[in-house]
Amino acid sequence: PGKLIDGRAFAAGICTEIAREVSDLHARHDRVPGLAVILVGDDPASDIYVRSKVRRTMAVGMRSFAHRLPAATSQVALLDLVATLNADGDVHGILLQLPLPGHIDVKAVLDAIDPAKDVDGFHIVNVGKLGVGRDDGFIPCTPLGCLMLLRAELGDLSGLHAVVIGCSNIVGRPMAQLLLRENCTVVVTHINTRDVAAETRRADIVIVAAGHPGLVRGSWIRPGATVIDVGINRIHDDAGSHVVGDVAFSEVRAVAGAVTPVPGGVGPMTIACLLHNTLRAARAVIENAKT
Ligand code: NAD
Repeated sequence: PGKLIDGRAFAAGICTEIAREVSDLHARHDRVPGLAVILVGDDPASDIYVRSKVRRTMAVGMRSFAHRLPAATSQVALLDLVATLNADGDVHGILLQLPLPGHIDVKAVLDAIDPAKDVDGFHIVNVGKLGVGRDDGFIPCTPLGCLMLLRAELGDLSGLHAVVIGCSNIVGRPMAQLLLRENCTVVVTHINTRDVAAETRRADIVIVAAGHPGLVRGSWIRPGATVIDVGINRIHDDAGSHVVGDVAFSEVRAVAGAVTPVPGGVGPMTIACLLHNTLRAARAVIENAKT
């Protein structure tokens, strides 16, 4: 069987290194990176994500500022909070937990965030920088985590044939842009693609972010390929309730050279990359300020 890519261990290593750099920054400049998280409404899944982000932020020694607002919060009030956080020197990163309630224009709020504090990489300026292959913007955390795993596994990705399944703005599209920046040959597939399997069979790298359990079968995979499973799907069966990815795991593992498990693959990398981006945002401010 193919190798299991241990995202949990990889993410723990990144967080250890981040904690070291945070304490170094504190020792040299007496400043600590700060991450603000905004949650609007009481969606249970979002609440779990926010709690875990707060916990992990503090675990690496950063300051965490959680802003929990009622579902009825107006767009004006939300924009006011964003403006306050943009101006707050203790806040280096701002994360707006999605989804937002329907009466709020998500784009307007995302684009109100200072691009230099946009550690999720969803501001149109950061999206644009990635789109033209620049490396001075922020990259969305989940695709960045996938890229780190791929680089660790394969080294230089130049010339490799990569197939991305799914083209959402938070995973598939930025993933495709990143792989293009790494000089891969990139094919992006989605729900309207006529024959996804015909594409993946040629791939050295397959990245699946479709939200469809068991979508990718063993027969879709070229022997030895590297498979990154972004899917998080909760299913209920005789064994109870559990989380699975988008690949038919045992089939795919039998053919692939390496594959990420779910859970324990891409998931832990996402928060590690959020902290990585926050550290980068903080360093740009703290190390460039007068000492
Ligand atoms: P989305 O629903 O916004 O987009 C899904 C994409 O997959 C769409 O582009 C759609 O066209 C495509 N798609 C759906 N079914 C398909 C099929 N049968 N064949 C080909 N393409 C298909 O979802 P998203 O936000 O991009 O998330 C995708 C998955 O990744 C979900 O399971 C989500 O929970 C998971 N996710 C995980 C993390 C993480 O940290 N690991 C982060 C974000 C999302």
